[in-house]
Amino acid sequence: MARIINTAESQKRWKEQMKIFMSYQMRNEDALYIHNHTNQYQVCENKEFLQQLQDWKDKGLNLVLHKGNIRPFDYKKKKWVMLTINGDDLAGSDGDTISEMAFACKFLVAGFTYLFKYHSYKEIEKEIKSSLTYIKKKKEPIIEKPVCADCKKGISFCRTIDEKDYCLKCAVKYEKPL
Ligand SMILES: [Zn+2]
Repeated sequence: MARIINTAESQKRWKEQMKIFMSYQMRNEDALYIHNHTNQYQVCENKEFLQQLQDWKDKGLNLVLHKGNIRPFDYKKKKWVMLTINGDDLAGSDGDTISEMAFACKFLVAGFTYLFKYHSYKEIEKEIKSSLTYIKKKKEPIIEKPVCADCKKGISFCRTIDEKDYCLKCAVKYEKPL
């Protein structure tokens, strides 16, 4: 499925979702994430997130969290934490691609990405770390700069065709007729 990830568009969509996520009606929700395949933003409570971790483990996924992929940041005078969880065997799953939300925040790491309210993250931080392989070793976060599959240049605008990313210029050559 061809999907264009565009920096400006992804940031606009993320900001709209953040506005909702910060609203009173979302006060009991703890995390924002995006379902890569449907490309829809969703929210969850901590207990649902922990259940999701358990479900992945039950499916046999070997989940890994690198210290560098726990990224606190400020937005609209509030503190947030973005987490990206990796694993050995995520090929073909949502965890195999960069979340559009991570892309919007310029955290270019493939994996399962969740954005927590800071206090929500702190509540379950220990539980998260103990329920997967937590790698504390000081190490640069794994940056996967999107590179065009054809011209190999870094790209901020891309088109995905058969799971390969092309810059918009090269994509024309590989574009399949609808
Ligand atoms: Zn190219």
